[in-house]
Amino acid sequence: MIDLYQDTEIETMDREALEALQLLRYKRTVANALKTPFYKKRLNSVGIKSAKDLKSLPDIKKIPFTTKEDLREAYPFGLMASKKEDVVRMHASSGTTGTPTVIYQTQEDLDNWTNLTTRSLVSVGCHKGDIFQNMMTYGLFTGGIGLHYGAEKLGMLVIPASSGNTKRQLQLMKDFESTVVHATPSYMLYLYSKLEEYGYTLSDFKLKKALVGAEPHSEEIRQKIEKLFGIDAYNSYGLSEMNGPSVAFECEKKAGMHLWEDSYYMEIVDEDTLKELPDGKTGELVLSILIRNATPILRYRTRDLTSIIPGQCSCGRISRRISRIKGRTDDMLIINGVNVFPSQIEEVIMKMPEVGTNYRILVKKEGLLDRLIVQTEVGPSIFSDDARDMNALKKRIIDNLRASITISPTVELHEPGVLPVQEGKAIRVVDERGGSK
Ligand code: AMP
Ligand code: ZN
Repeated sequence: MIDLYQDTEIETMDREALEALQLLRYKRTVANALKTPFYKKRLNSVGIKSAKDLKSLPDIKKIPFTTKEDLREAYPFGLMASKKEDVVRMHASSGTTGTPTVIYQTQEDLDNWTNLTTRSLVSVGCHKGDIFQNMMTYGLFTGGIGLHYGAEKLGMLVIPASSGNTKRQLQLMKDFESTVVHATPSYMLYLYSKLEEYGYTLSDFKLKKALVGAEPHSEEIRQKIEKLFGIDAYNSYGLSEMNGPSVAFECEKKAGMHLWEDSYYMEIVDEDTLKELPDGKTGELVLSILIRNATPILRYRTRDLTSIIPGQCSCGRISRRISRIKGRTDDMLIINGVNVFPSQIEEVIMKMPEVGTNYRILVKKEGLLDRLIVQTEVGPSIFSDDARDMNALKKRIIDNLRASITISPTVELHEPGVLPVQEGKAIRVVDERGGSK
């Protein structure tokens, strides 16, 4: 029999019990944080000298927020709260600019994380006997190695393929009859676009599920992946500062991502006023990790925009759900004064069946004005030499975009396979305006 939950007691406990557990774990985390000079100073400044000063969950609001810059300043060892000889692993953020942010884990910390990844895999119906092809990058990035251990613990056969090498991925998928894959959504679409070229058809595979995450993607992209491959795709959210994957994961109901509240304390705040927002309102996700000794991080401003979905999920899990990540506070584009999130553009174009699997957004300066260019590939059967057909499609894309983002972009249509593809996270936006955003 396949279990519905990995850890029934924790996953289905009532809210009162969950909050008691959160407080207990928060106190332990604060006690650890006080061992680091950074948090000692921060916490003392608001009158928290020991974990005992945290009497109830609302007391958490006294703690100042932690930012990415704080973590950078602490590089390399400033936030290590365990003895160095007790630390068994480190990871670093995949940020391409500036000093990376580093986190450490003891063996107990790793075991806690593994429990969560196993829980997440069970929540999407994975089980012993599944063949798990992990196409996320292994390395300092947490995406690959994070789910690896959870999958093994569950008893799945793990193929640690890592990212890239599409030809080999497809061959592995066929020869070893992979049933579950883990990849970025953009890579799933790319993989599909390469099937024919490498001589495969869908009937060569036994694939049932894709776990997709590490980058923003719309519901339309999920549906595209599901339709193209004939599988279920589930959203997986995490960030290296909070261990990595399995901070929040969709369950089989596909009705938002359960943020594992026994392990992470979440708040949604207005990104400008930093005031807490009610359920249903979109704001910046702020997280505290409750299950890591070696690097405690309190009230971390993730810069990710989401909302808490009101009500309980029909799967019976207590952890509240967050909505699909809308974008990051730092990826909003301002085009001639109008705020545009790349996710709004994706939503519109991916709804159109003629649009293919890849797209890119360019922003340029022309004189004093900003120019928004949306480059999309079209489906293989759609691309035509008939300029009239292509112009009509372009016009429809422009009209649909204008209805959503209120400005008219220039649209360029490209043949399938022409736009650049990344091995890791997709780079969807190229802003060539320099500092003038
Ligand atoms: P990293 O720390 O390098 O793993 O990057 C973490 C960031 O990737 C998050 O803060 C999000 O901005 C993004 N991310 C991860 N998973 C998702 C997801 N499922 N949907 C949208 N963005 C995601
Ligand atoms: Zn659920």
